[in-house]
Amino acid sequence: MKVIVAGAGHGGLVAASKLAKFGYDVTVYEKRQREELGHDWEDRFTFDLLLKIIEKDELPKDVWRYRGDCVFVSPSKRTNVEIRYTDETRQKIMWRKPLINMLLDYALKCGVKFEYGVDVKEAIIKEDTIIGIKTNKGDILGDIVIDSMGAFSCIRRNLPDGFGIEKELNRGDAFYGYRAYFNKTEKVSPEFPFEVYLYHEREQGLSWCCVNEDNVDILIGRIDPLTKEKVEEQLKIFKENHPYIGDEILHGGQYGVIPVRRPLPLIVANGYACVGDSAFMTTPMNGMGIDLSMNAGLLLAETLINKEDASIENLWNYNREYHKQFGGPTAKNEGLKNSLLKLPYEGVDFLYDNAVIQSSDLAGAGRNMKLGALLGKFVRGMKKTKYFFAIIKGLIKGSKASKTYTKAPKVYNIKAIKKWEDKLNKLVIKIN
Ligand SMILES: Cc1cc2nc3c(=O)[nH]c(=O)nc-3n(C[C@H](O)[C@H](O)[C@H](O)COP(=O)(O)OP(=O)(O)OC[C@H]3O[C@@H](n4cnc5c(N)ncnc54)[C@H](O)[C@@H]3O)c2cc1C
Repeated sequence: MKVIVAGAGHGGLVAASKLAKFGYDVTVYEKRQREELGHDWEDRFTFDLLLKIIEKDELPKDVWRYRGDCVFVSPSKRTNVEIRYTDETRQKIMWRKPLINMLLDYALKCGVKFEYGVDVKEAIIKEDTIIGIKTNKGDILGDIVIDSMGAFSCIRRNLPDGFGIEKELNRGDAFYGYRAYFNKTEKVSPEFPFEVYLYHEREQGLSWCCVNEDNVDILIGRIDPLTKEKVEEQLKIFKENHPYIGDEILHGGQYGVIPVRRPLPLIVANGYACVGDSAFMTTPMNGMGIDLSMNAGLLLAETLINKEDASIENLWNYNREYHKQFGGPTAKNEGLKNSLLKLPYEGVDFLYDNAVIQSSDLAGAGRNMKLGALLGKFVRGMKKTKYFFAIIKGLIKGSKASKTYTKAPKVYNIKAIKKWEDKLNKLVIKIN
C-alpha cells in the first residue's frame, strides 16, 4: 500500500512509523524543514505512551522535569483554589522539540521517507475517492492520504461538502495562545509556582504564569484571535503583578492555536483519514492533544494493517474505535467548558467563591466533575441558581454527548451516520 502522510503532526508520524514498519511504502510531506518542527516550549503528555511507541525504556534526563504545585485564580482574583500534587499526581512536562525529534528518528528507523518543503494544497479526488494530494511540487498519488496537518488542514477545509466532514471551527472551538519564557530578574520560588487564571483579566480564556528555576513561563490564551497589542497589554499586567519577570525572551515567543471542542464525528472518507488536531482530537478543557493524536495514529495503523483496504467501510472501524476509546470520554468535557464560557465572569467568580469549583475538579480538567458530586455542592450553588444550573446543564449535555460518541454505528452506513451526527449536534452548547 502506498501511504501519503500530509503534515508531520504527531498522529501522522505514529501511523507512518507503524505502517512503514509493517512494510508499506510511506512518505511524509511536510511544508517546513525538519529543524523548524516542534514548538520551543514544554508540554504535558503521557511519557509511557511515547516510550511504548518509539520502543524505548526511558527518556534522557535533560528533556523533562516536574511542574510545581498549582493555584487556580478566580477572575476577580478574590479566591484561589490550591492544588498540591503528590508524587503520583505531579505533572511531568517535556520540551516539544525533543519529543518531535524522537518521533521523527523512530519514523526514519521504521523506513518512513520524508519530503520537507512540500506545501500540500488540497486532495485529488476521483469520483468519491481521495487518490492523492496537490502540492507546490506537483501532484502525488497514493492509496491513502493521512491528514496530519493540524487544526487548519487545507485538505479537510477544501473537501467537497458531499464528503460530510465538518470543515471550520466556530467561536469557542479554538484557543488562541501566545507563549514565552522570560528571564527572571530576582531569585523567587513561590509556594505555588504555577498560577492558572480562568477568565484571565475577566476575558474569555485562560492564561498562566509558571515560575521555574531559571525562567518564567507565560501563556496568554483567549477564545478569539490574539492581536500583538492584546499580548503586549497582558504581558504588561503580568509584569506589574510579578515584578521579577524580565524582558528577555529565553524560549517561545510564538503564537499557536488549539482546537478545544469535541472531535469531528466523521474523520474518514474513501482513501482518507484525519488524525490529531486536523480531526480536533484534544481535551476541550485543557487543550491537551498529544496523547490523543498518538493513540489515534496507532488505531489508524492497526486498522490499515488488519485489512489492506483504504475504503471508507474499513476506515470506519478506525473512526468508530477512536470515538469509543477516546472521542467519547473527551467530548464529555466540552459541555462543561462551553457552559463555563457562556457564563459572565461574575458567574465564574461565584462558582469559585462558593466552592462549587474545587481543587479536585480543576486538577482533573473537569473530568472528575460528576453530577453526583455536584449535588453535594447544591446548597452553596443554590444561592445563584442560574449559574449553578448552567453548569449542571453543561455536565448533562456533555455526559449525553460522551455516550452518543461511544455508540457510533457499528458498520459504515451513510444514513445511520447522519442520524448519529444529528443527535450529537443537538448536544452542543454554542458560545455566542
Ligand atoms: C500553546 C500550546 C500549548 C500546548 N500544550 C499542550 C500540552 O501541554 N499537552 C498536549 O497534549 N497538547 C498541547 N498542545 C496541543 C498540541 O500541540 C496538539 O494537540 C498536538 O500537537 C496535535 O497536533 P497535530 O500533531 O495533529 O498537529 P500539528 O502539531 O499542528 O502539526 C501539523 C503539521 O502539519 C504541517 N502542515 C500544516 N500545513 C501544511 C501544509 N499545507 N503542507 C504540509 N504540511 C503542513 C505543520 O507544519 C505541522 O508540522 C498545545 C498547543 C499549543 C498551541
